[in-house]
Amino acid sequence: MRIVETIDGLGAWRGSCVLVPTMGALHAGHADLIRRAATLARSELAARGADGRRGVVVSVFVNPTQFNEKNDFERYPRTLESDAALAARAGADAVFAPSVPEMYPRGLGAGVPALPAAATEPKLEDAHRPGHFAGVCQVVRRLFEATLPAVAVFGEKDWQQLQVVRQMTAVLGLGIEIVGVPTVREPDGLAMSSRNVFLSAADRGRALSISRALRAAGGLSDAGAAERDMRAVLDEAGVVVEYATVRDGETLRAPGAGACRALIAGRVGAVRLIDNAPWPGWGASGRGEPGSIS
Ligand code: AMP
Repeated sequence: MRIVETIDGLGAWRGSCVLVPTMGALHAGHADLIRRAATLARSELAARGADGRRGVVVSVFVNPTQFNEKNDFERYPRTLESDAALAARAGADAVFAPSVPEMYPRGLGAGVPALPAAATEPKLEDAHRPGHFAGVCQVVRRLFEATLPAVAVFGEKDWQQLQVVRQMTAVLGLGIEIVGVPTVREPDGLAMSSRNVFLSAADRGRALSISRALRAAGGLSDAGAAERDMRAVLDEAGVVVEYATVRDGETLRAPGAGACRALIAGRVGAVRLIDNAPWPGWGASGRGEPGSIS
């Protein structure tokens, strides 16, 4: 496993890899993405008739253009050495850790693609984090350009981001397959996040209400009732709710005929957390299901 800081340094992996984009501070959720990428690179793609062996490239880049708050960017955990060790254990061939000038040689404002509808219409993350998806689309497009992957793997944890990346990739006609991986949770249900380290013990307890609210909503078949129920659970726990809503899983508009998703964003103390789950019916056995929630 190599740590590479330049596009040139990617060598033969450029144009022949499965990419896992991250901002580092890797945890078990990221490890799942990397394992999925390794399975794709080593067997699934070959079984589908792709030529040659593909590498697994994990990018670690704390992208300044997607942060809304300077403080959030500055205090974001940077742990490249342990990230590289985790990535290697999970099956990565290379960690791509570029500098800001390597990523944005034409400046931080250049290369923002037209934003797809999922990035501007739903009034979810787009309403609460203005400019965030412009930064996400900019960095993802640049990472795609740098690594030229066959497949890129993203987490369902950032559900709206996954839909935005899917739409952007389709609109740009990049021919890159986007694979989503279910959310990895702590045994008590809390979705793993690099920001969880900033939760005090009391706030961590409050944060559990988020997965509890999603699970409660999953038992209700009326979207309006599910939204009211989520809000009640979160309010009672002291989470400052930004949204708690049920949407079409793909368009992120009001629920229609397609599969739906319940999505929550809220502040717990100084930490902003997001989570989501299939709706209704989250609670059946399977991955992404919290082990035990009282
Ligand atoms: P980040 O480093 O937070 O930008 O995340 C990098 C990738 O890991 C994104 O595609 C996230 O959706 C994904 N990810 C983050 N947390 C989790 C989790 N708990 N389970 C699965 N994927 C995750």
